[in-house]
Amino acid sequence: MSLSQALARALAGAAVLAAASTGVQAQPDDRAAERIKAHVAFLADDLLQGREAGTPGFDLAAAYVASQFAQIDVQPGAADGSYFQRVSMVAGRPSDEGALVLTSKAGPAPLKFGEDYLPGRNLLSATTHVAAPLVFVGYGVRTARQDDYAGLNVKGKIVVALSGAPAGLQTEERAYYANSRTKRLAAEARGAVGFITIMAPSDETRRPFANSARQWRNWGMAWRTEAGEAFSPAASTPDLGMLSVTGAAKLFVGARRSYDEVVKAAEAGAPPRFALAQGLDATINTEAKLVESANVVGRIEGADPKLKGEVVVLSAHLDHIGVTPPINGDSINNGALDNAGGVATTLEVARAFVEGERPRRTLLFLLNTAEEKGLVGSDYFARNPPTSAPIVANINLDMPILTYDFVDVVAFGAERSSLGPAVQRAAGRMGVRLSPDPLPEEGLFTRSDHYRFVEQGVPSVFLMTGFENSGREAFTSFLKDHYHKPSDDLSLPIDYRAGAKFAGINYEIAREVADADARPAWNDGDFFGTLFVRP
Ligand SMILES: [Zn+2]
Repeated sequence: MSLSQALARALAGAAVLAAASTGVQAQPDDRAAERIKAHVAFLADDLLQGREAGTPGFDLAAAYVASQFAQIDVQPGAADGSYFQRVSMVAGRPSDEGALVLTSKAGPAPLKFGEDYLPGRNLLSATTHVAAPLVFVGYGVRTARQDDYAGLNVKGKIVVALSGAPAGLQTEERAYYANSRTKRLAAEARGAVGFITIMAPSDETRRPFANSARQWRNWGMAWRTEAGEAFSPAASTPDLGMLSVTGAAKLFVGARRSYDEVVKAAEAGAPPRFALAQGLDATINTEAKLVESANVVGRIEGADPKLKGEVVVLSAHLDHIGVTPPINGDSINNGALDNAGGVATTLEVARAFVEGERPRRTLLFLLNTAEEKGLVGSDYFARNPPTSAPIVANINLDMPILTYDFVDVVAFGAERSSLGPAVQRAAGRMGVRLSPDPLPEEGLFTRSDHYRFVEQGVPSVFLMTGFENSGREAFTSFLKDHYHKPSDDLSLPIDYRAGAKFAGINYEIAREVADADARPAWNDGDFFGTLFVRP
């Protein structure tokens, strides 16, 4: 350690102490704001071609992060002593439009590609052909209150499920039930041989089918098992496709209730469930390739002789969706907010720890690959951590909306564990309020990397910038006009001081968690703690 670093640490420590003792709120740091701007400018440059996992653009981003770590004295955190945890993956996408044909006594009725349906993909097989009766299972969930499979036999049949989950559920539990993997596993457990998702009208309004259709040939990915195969939960119940509202209505022709009727009943809380009058003959074709990528991992060793044997992971996905068919002549998805902003703020959290007091627990900084492909890099990391020390908490930074000066945040997952009070205190120090989830229908809790840690039983928290102080307009206009589009780029009015504030609050949370005497724990009887913690 150099003298100047030691001095900087002492000063930073003194400043934190002063703030704590006087109750003065921490202010976003202007120099941090400038550095966040510089990180985002590099990561969202056209040169990186949208940072898709498995492309040179992603590898450039990974090299950038490793270089930044080295410059600020964050140590390599991968098991081989480098900054890179290699992740070997299978990428797959539809090789053609496939064919979904409704069958009945009236004869075959093909659904129309791009209007009625988009084909699914099967990373385990070039061609998947299933012909079977159809059973509509409502949302296809089994909650404490309702079992959508009760009284139905779906063995050997194709399950048809509405997108989303019942509105009455708590937001994180609703996200779990709305998740397509949860649904397919439920269908597989009951012997279904295929799975079709039909869009609910409210979902299609928020996520126009045309947007999905524009990206129908995007690559999906899965990490490779030791046998070299794509890790594919619910493999015997393949995802055959997604139907638009228009396509869904055709499925219900001749059935005892129409699509409109089941949607109305679903919105009222209780969709009917029944065998449909038609069957489906589905063929989907998938082209696959091997992809090599890496999670970038940095490490700050804990200072406490005992607690340094426990690891707190801060994560932010480094990848984005690459190059897609153009909108207004632009085909590069720069991902300035999704998630160059999260990576940049994570780098500043790392710097704050290096410059401040060393944490008692060990910190790992995970800038992971293939989040956009199904939370793949984080899943690989959470199942194959580069250390034998237990991971005791995850703090995830993904897509902070930095186009306004946020004054509140939504802390997903916080109320489920002892992280909650830590988040409360951290937010208070930054003068930021905590708000309930204003977008429960989005199912955000299962849509970013912290969820892979939750699945491994790790208490986790993920902050979303809140709706106050014009956040609602900023958030909804971003989701509508820029999310996963080429216009998520440097032309957005990014407030880099908001970035510094976002880094500050996540630093304060990590500081609380890393330095607390007690190891983070799920609350007694918590839904996810009960579901995923191995005894
Ligand atoms: Zn994204």
